[in-house]
Amino acid sequence: MFESLSDRLSGVFDRLTKQGALSEDDVKTALREVRVALLEADVSLPVARDFVRAVQDKATGQAVTKSVTPGQQVVKIVHDELVAVLTGAEDPGKLKIDNAPAPILMVGLQGGGKTTTTGKLAKRLKERENKRVLMASLDVYRPAAMHQLEVLGGQIGVDVLPIVEGQKPVDIAKRAKQQATMGGYDVYLLDTAGRLQIDEVLMQEVEDVSKAVNPRETLLVVDGLTGQVAVEVAEEFDAKVGISGVVLTRMDGDGRGGAALSMRAVTGKPIRFVGVGEKLDALETFEPDRIAGRILG
Ligand code: GDP
Repeated sequence: MFESLSDRLSGVFDRLTKQGALSEDDVKTALREVRVALLEADVSLPVARDFVRAVQDKATGQAVTKSVTPGQQVVKIVHDELVAVLTGAEDPGKLKIDNAPAPILMVGLQGGGKTTTTGKLAKRLKERENKRVLMASLDVYRPAAMHQLEVLGGQIGVDVLPIVEGQKPVDIAKRAKQQATMGGYDVYLLDTAGRLQIDEVLMQEVEDVSKAVNPRETLLVVDGLTGQVAVEVAEEFDAKVGISGVVLTRMDGDGRGGAALSMRAVTGKPIRFVGVGEKLDALETFEPDRIAGRILG
């Protein structure tokens, strides 16, 4: 589909430069390619511009080592800079869940993969960290969503807070906290309601729930294929409730992963996990190196 950026850069450089140092013109020509590739990978224009500027400063005047071609050298500089921007947390998969029961709030728009990710995360905590996990759905608007979480719980062998008709999200959250405390759970995951778009009622509700349980982590789940929209959603949720990390879903699709770069550059929030499929073990710890490789192609 796309010619990979690595190939394009090698081509440009192998035509231009013979030996010696990387000249400013050489670097500029190559960086035009980098910018186009970033835009094709769905990185927003301002982020692509800043990124290219940073690489330009690093690359200009660098001595070309004999062992690699100039093209390979610039690819490496671009790769390292991508990793530098993408790296947000030393250990993205390590959640703050020391003090039991630790509340984790899952937020995001409807359809972004929030409920599925709640199940995936519960499974991971149970199986890899040996935690006793409780899940609760706060989506009082969609009985189907509550039911979906119950089904997921059954599939992975994780307890789900029983549904009580007519309860408000804040009250469900408080009941989850109580149940988690009394039942000796290590972690409880609160799957908040999503909307098709951000609105005041949704935000107020999430804010109220957050105040009621004081979550150790607030994870925003967003569709990684929605690019700039995902970044805007993250900014809004962060401004209102303060997010501690991001889960990018649908990273198993055709997208080049550019949303990850924009997300990091614009919000400064760490990407903690990526969803790579519909199955309940299709959740991976975010690896900057892998996404950098994917953006480079
Ligand atoms: P919610 O409305 O945010 O709770 O979204 P759901 O968890 O119900 O997910 C919506 C759809 O996206 C479901 O069909 C999921 O199976 C699917 N989904 C969630 N995460 C991923 C992912 O990482 N990759 C793929 N391919 N599909 C996903």
